[in-house]
Amino acid sequence: MNTDSSKEHSNKDHNTDYALLGFKCGIEIHQQLDGKKLFCNCPCDIKKGKPDYTVKRWLRASAGETGEVDKAASFEQQKLKYYLYHVFKDSTCLIELDEEPPMHVNQAALNTCLKVCKLLNVTVGDQIQFMRKVVVDGSNCSGFQRTALVGRNGFITLVNGKKISIESVCLEEEACQPIERLKTHDVYNLSRQGIPLIEIATGPDISSAEEAKETSAKLGMILRSVDGMKRGIGTIRQDVNVSIKGGARVEIKGFQEFKSIPKVIEYEVKRHMDLIKNGKKVEMHVRGHTPDFKTVYQRPMPGASRMYPETDIPIVLIDMSKIKTGVTLEQKETDMIHKFGLRNELAKEIVKRNIDMTGLAGKFKNIDANFLAETIINVPKEIKSRYKKDISVLDHLDVIEILDQGKIPKSAVFEILTELAQGKKVDYSRYKSVDAGFVEKIVKDVVANDPDAPIGALMGQAMAKLRGKADGKIVMELLKKYKGA
Ligand SMILES: [Zn+2]
Repeated sequence: MNTDSSKEHSNKDHNTDYALLGFKCGIEIHQQLDGKKLFCNCPCDIKKGKPDYTVKRWLRASAGETGEVDKAASFEQQKLKYYLYHVFKDSTCLIELDEEPPMHVNQAALNTCLKVCKLLNVTVGDQIQFMRKVVVDGSNCSGFQRTALVGRNGFITLVNGKKISIESVCLEEEACQPIERLKTHDVYNLSRQGIPLIEIATGPDISSAEEAKETSAKLGMILRSVDGMKRGIGTIRQDVNVSIKGGARVEIKGFQEFKSIPKVIEYEVKRHMDLIKNGKKVEMHVRGHTPDFKTVYQRPMPGASRMYPETDIPIVLIDMSKIKTGVTLEQKETDMIHKFGLRNELAKEIVKRNIDMTGLAGKFKNIDANFLAETIINVPKEIKSRYKKDISVLDHLDVIEILDQGKIPKSAVFEILTELAQGKKVDYSRYKSVDAGFVEKIVKDVVANDPDAPIGALMGQAMAKLRGKADGKIVMELLKKYKGA
């Protein structure tokens, strides 16, 4: 019973007891890839501004392979809208417009997806089949999206050891970017269509809002650990599925980053609780979310009758033995921490910026790795906030080199970099380290002058006399030595 109650406790975010509510949650992540599009040679650039020309289309709902007309499809058709596509010659061709059949699948994109599969421990079959998924909101010019199930039944492991299952990894084509939704028609940017997209879906194993955030961050980390991902706003989108006991599954779409996920989940769970308490039914549907962490109705949940095989694309054979992955960003961070004793945040930043810490530490053997990392990461931030100037320490490694040679004290590094950031010519002789014997003499004098003063006060006096030309750590050691004696 003890373990049960502690488990329940860990699933509590603020005042919501998720275990008691029978909370279930799964995440779906969509990550855009860079390079070329999935079924043509157009670049993955999303164009902005005035299009080269526009194309108008109407969509009609038709029955899928089950013979049933999709619920979401008829919902869209009721609106009797047409769709206007902005076409940009440099990043679209006739394939995006569905005027020409697709080319063979982009092998680079497929390999990137297979590497992700490997890191997610999913099982990949020896062949994949692309399917057509009916899309009825006009976001695909053809009225369908090509998608292939690449891997299934994987898992990731959270910090506390809990495994979150990965139900599927799909490789699909990105839809058009919505520009404007009007009463008579919707306007779309066609240049986004066809960009390769990896879709990862977890099982409904997530048991609290905070766990959803951790899962999302972990999946993001794994994606960023593989080369070939597109970066920046809009290149990764997440949907969150939630339900509680006595309710129904609701999908909340379009999270750009993981930070807002817990608050939106909390809002949605409260909404379900209120409906159930008042004897109302929780309907299965799709919702959007607002900047103030609320959710709003979007549309009905698409049914299962929306998939049929894409016969224009031959079956793709897979050989997983050729797929090699490197270490994940998380593993690199752990390595930094173990190898150099770096603090967590420093290790994170060093890895994020792809800084060659091993090379730097090997080059500057006399400098403590933490000090080196701190100088590279935090000193520019400090100079920016104090003096509104930009500097990259990696562009001024000569400063680090003279520190390594013992020609300047550590305490001078910040000032020298500040002067460099301000475009000043640095007079290094001003910062020259003073002779060790001289430092010792100053410390001795200071202690002799006022033997009963607290060590902090003596430190102030000694540093003032040395005018920053000696290392504070050494001065402190000497002070302890003479005061103790
Ligand atoms: Zn194209």
